[in-house]
Amino acid sequence: MSLIFVFDPVLNDIVKDVCREYWLYSSPNNYIAHVETLCQSYGISHSVLFSTLAKCQVYLDDIHCEYCGHPYELDVPADIPYARRLESWLCEGCIIFSGGQINV
Ligand SMILES: [Zn+2]
Repeated sequence: MSLIFVFDPVLNDIVKDVCREYWLYSSPNNYIAHVETLCQSYGISHSVLFSTLAKCQVYLDDIHCEYCGHPYELDVPADIPYARRLESWLCEGCIIFSGGQINV
């Protein structure tokens, strides 16, 4: 599995590491503990962590829109196992464009 990171240009390298480490976690079972550990090891608060994460877009590089090929955009790490179970996926833009009429 690999992830594509698209960082906001305002983020520095340390902050990018925080983002990468956050996304290393893909099991939904222990998410709260993962967030706690991350905040403690970087000495940041939850609100700083999540405002940082909002400046980093993450995509799965092996799940693509069936129609336009856009990679799957992730909101939380728990999306990863969910996305892997999908047999096919359409991005939001294509769903709107097609009116939900494309059968893949
Ligand atoms: Zn698409």
